[in-house]
Amino acid sequence: RAKMDGQGSVCFFDQTFHDQLLYQHRLVDRLTKALDSGELSLHYQPQVSAASGRIENLEALLRWQPAEGPPISPAEFIPLAERSDLIHRLGDWVMETACQQRVLWRDAGLAVGRIDINFSGRQMSRPDVFQRFEDCLARHGLGPQDIGLELTENVLIEADDRILEGLRRLHDLGFRIAIDDFGTGYSSLSYLKHFPVTALKIDRAFVRDAPDEPKDRAIMEAAIFIGHRLGLEVVAEGVENREQLALIREMRCDLVQGFYFFRPMPALEMERVLGGLVTGHPGVSG
Ligand code: C2E
Ligand code: MG
Ligand code: MG
Ligand code: MG
Repeated sequence: RAKMDGQGSVCFFDQTFHDQLLYQHRLVDRLTKALDSGELSLHYQPQVSAASGRIENLEALLRWQPAEGPPISPAEFIPLAERSDLIHRLGDWVMETACQQRVLWRDAGLAVGRIDINFSGRQMSRPDVFQRFEDCLARHGLGPQDIGLELTENVLIEADDRILEGLRRLHDLGFRIAIDDFGTGYSSLSYLKHFPVTALKIDRAFVRDAPDEPKDRAIMEAAIFIGHRLGLEVVAEGVENREQLALIREMRCDLVQGFYFFRPMPALEMERVLGGLVTGHPGVSG
């Protein structure tokens, strides 16, 4: 957008850049306060069996509704939080909240399955990240059948020995570890050999275009094939319509997540769904 001719244009460019920095700085500031003021919450989105539509697990997704103004997307604030230690406080909050919710639902006798939480790259750089995870679960009397992890490919590609060892330990303890947004990172696939993962989540970009694009279909088929050959569970993200679902079933994908079945929803609404029915029906959620 910046024009290189004339001083005014350069000034315009700088001003925009400056505004952006200022905006980001203020956002981080507000987010820090949001942690203590109840503006954050977790929403939950079911993963259903592709074959039966039964709810198997939930993914916890962070939500920020400032006291004033529109909600702010995690796709916007997580990357900002990652530039400072704020991401660690957010990560702790998510872990703690998911555990509390899992205990509440267990005590209420709801068939919840596992709640999977997202871990970003910067979170993994904390030396005691795995210990904190284990401690948090232990404190709530929870185990591998209760809470799982989602990591993106890039997290794994950049991971060092410490992270590899930490993940191996969790894996040996029986924890589920999914690769999120599979197929969109700088993947060499060789990390599939080294990392103790248990599931692949095929990115929703492939799912979205699969009905119309033979190439997306081919990539999905290949991903499902590799996943199954490696003994992994395969999840299709972002399923929004009947055509996509039909394809995914044909390809023998294991689990499906997407608006066609359920949107991410607040805990109370999730509770109603879990208490009322165990089969996903499109249109049930808001
Ligand atoms: P993700 O982990 O890949 O989560 C899936 C995203 O796809 C969610 O967006 C979800 O709302 C959206 N989604 C689910 N089904 C559909 C569908 O059928 N169609 C479409 N168009 N979208 C669908 P959301 O909640 O905005 O989260 C965006 C990203 O932010 C997440 O991607 C994840 O990378 C990150 N994130 C969210 N919560 C957390 C968290 O607690 N911790 C960390 N570190 N990252 C998080
Ligand atoms: Mg995820
Ligand atoms: Mg994803
Ligand atoms: Mg994503």
